[in-house]
This record gives sequence, structure tokens and C-alpha cells, in this order.
Amino acid sequence: MPKSVDYFAVPEEDCIFCKIVAGELPSDRVDEDEHTIAFMDINPWTRGHALVISRNHSKNLYEVADEDLEHAVVAAKRLAIRMRDRLGAEGVNLLNCCEPAAWQTVFHLHIHVIPRWQDDPLKLPGMPQQPGEGELAEVAAELRG
Ligand code: 5GP
Ligand code: ZN
Repeated sequence: MPKSVDYFAVPEEDCIFCKIVAGELPSDRVDEDEHTIAFMDINPWTRGHALVISRNHSKNLYEVADEDLEHAVVAAKRLAIRMRDRLGAEGVNLLNCCEPAAWQTVFHLHIHVIPRWQDDPLKLPGMPQQPGEGELAEVAAELRG
């Protein structure tokens, strides 16, 4: 098993998203409520790509409190509808990255809200695979219950 970098040693007081919540770092905020804020991603994948974060610090999906996650998902829905209505988005992707293996680079729970258009340049990041004989049933048994 390769040893992963211990990104999580970053103390909460050095978390850039906590600094954005506190107003210590600038951001282009587009939405906020008691539990969440949303702001433009600094390196957008499409026009309008935003991040919804919980005001409370948690490292990622494994650790976030259920109620913080629920508030973030509801805020993401609100923003998705606004992207449709104001930006003319034809669709939206929600993306969450949990751990470096899954592309997480900032270790404060966030949901990417990415407006989509039929002719935008984004490509599906994965290749659908044909499962081997019995593979689905086998993995389902590992996950069930
Ligand atoms: P992750 O890879 O962890 O899912 O996503 C982190 C996202 O945060 C990236 O898309 C990156 O562009 C964005 N990001 C990183 N630093 C900043 C920042 O200081 N300000 C803003 N607005 N976005 C940031
Ligand atoms: Zn944080």
C-alpha cells in the first residue's frame, strides 16, 4: 500500500475555506445562509462553477456531520436552480471529492456546483467498464447491510 501524504495535518486555523468563511480571504460570494456559503471556484471548469461549503469545518464526506451535509446539499440545489434560471445552464453537475485518491485538494467539505451546456468542453472523467462474470454480485455482497 503506497503511503499517502498526510494532508490532514493542516490545522483548522490554516484552512483556506475557513478563512473564506471568516472573511480573512477574499471570495466572490454568491449565496449564504446560517450554515453554508457559496462562492466562485477560483479555477472554474465552466462559466459559473461555484463551491458550496459548510460554515463548520470538517475534513470531508467521511467526517462531516449529517446536518452540515444536508444544509450543503440543499444550498447546492438552490444554486443549481439559479444557474439554470440566470445563466441559462442546460444542466448541472454536483461533485464532491473525498480524499486525494478522489481528487480532493482542499480539506474542508465542499460541493462543486458546475453549470453545464450541451456544447461545453467538459468530458466524462471515467470510462464505463463491462463488469466481469459475477463481479457486480460479488461487490454488492461486500457492500450490503
Ligand atoms: P477539490 O479538488 O478539493 O474538490 O476542490 C478544491 C477547489 O477549490 C478547486 O476547484 C480549486 O480551484 C478551488 N480553490 C482552491 N483554492 C481556492 C481559493 O483560494 N479560492 C477559491 N475561490 N477557490 C479555490
Ligand atoms: Zn476549514
